[in-house]
Amino acid sequence: MAHVVLKDLVKTYGTFNAVNHVSLTVNDGEFVALVGPSGCGKTTTLNLVAGLIPITSGEIAIGDRVVNDLDPKDRDIAMVFQNYALYPQKSVYKNLAFPLQMRKLPREEIDRKVREAAQVLDMTHLLERKPRELSGGQQQRVALGRALVRDPAVFLMDEPLSNLDAKLRVQMRSEIKRFHQDLKATIIYVTHDQLEAVTMADRMAVMNGGFLQQYDSPAQVFAHPVNMFVASFIGSPAMSLVPLEASKADGQTVLTSAEGWALPLSDRNARKVEAATSRKVVLGARHSTIRLHKSPVPGAVPAKAYTVEPTGDVTFVQAFVAAAIVNISVPPTVPVAPDEPIWLEFDQERIHLFDGETEMALN
Ligand code: ATP
Repeated sequence: MAHVVLKDLVKTYGTFNAVNHVSLTVNDGEFVALVGPSGCGKTTTLNLVAGLIPITSGEIAIGDRVVNDLDPKDRDIAMVFQNYALYPQKSVYKNLAFPLQMRKLPREEIDRKVREAAQVLDMTHLLERKPRELSGGQQQRVALGRALVRDPAVFLMDEPLSNLDAKLRVQMRSEIKRFHQDLKATIIYVTHDQLEAVTMADRMAVMNGGFLQQYDSPAQVFAHPVNMFVASFIGSPAMSLVPLEASKADGQTVLTSAEGWALPLSDRNARKVEAATSRKVVLGARHSTIRLHKSPVPGAVPAKAYTVEPTGDVTFVQAFVAAAIVNISVPPTVPVAPDEPIWLEFDQERIHLFDGETEMALN
């Protein structure tokens, strides 16, 4: 396996930068997810690493080699695509063997590698079948196997699970994670699904508008999003963001709403707010850190329930607070009705504060 280093990578189409000065290192044996909304540049970044499209500027190294000018076949990578790209007329065995035959390996070696890969991916019993005789999950496993037999330095995966139904996707998610753990493979994995990235990756590179926003472990990105984009993209339901104004009342820093309520801040949060570039501050809170009250309590702010969604274990409530929508989760035993007045208590230890001008986290 090998590490991958992207240095100041840029890809321009006309005047549009699809990839904007992206720099990051994927360690040897690391599973990195490139994640972000549609059009953020994640597939373009992967295709640059693969050599499928030429870079505009910057540098890509795989292992100790700069690969900028190398053909895809010389980069020691294997790609797994969303559409599997299997040969429909060939058996699973022949699909796996084909890349090795192209490399003119001896027949015994090809047979050994194919059978080893089939064993790793638990598909020895499928070797004689044609792709059309396989389920979506099995076809995806063959696509993984075809990458595996090549024994590449790096696996590049582009939304490999997006053609599977929800249940199978969850199962294959675990299988790919297991595949990574067993092989200690270096994997760069593109997905628009933040949950896939959070559950599978050692580190995630969150992208937006061609820019790398944050590159860190899922736990760190979840707990300390660097800006409002990352805060709202990672986590489900999304982190709620409430635009407010900072001011002082009787020496105490408070966040005020246009409706006239004021939320006193703890000393620690007050210090963060004082570092903001303006008085505009955005309060961020995840659903599980907000307490819902059915009557006024000191420190809780007034809100109005909007939608109520029971899911069995937990009920998700959306409520209007200071003209923003806030997500809250409550036990199914708490009765809440749409349009009901409610009061929300934010956990001061767990709220996030953002500069309303720059949208950056206040730390
Ligand atoms: P998706 O999840 O929808 O595939 P993505 O994050 O992978 O999105 P990219 O495919 O990398 O996004 O595209 C990034 C941006 O570059 C998009 O705005 C896209 O329209 C643009 N783009 C991609 N390929 C080309 C091209 N060949 N010519 C012009 N613009 C392109």
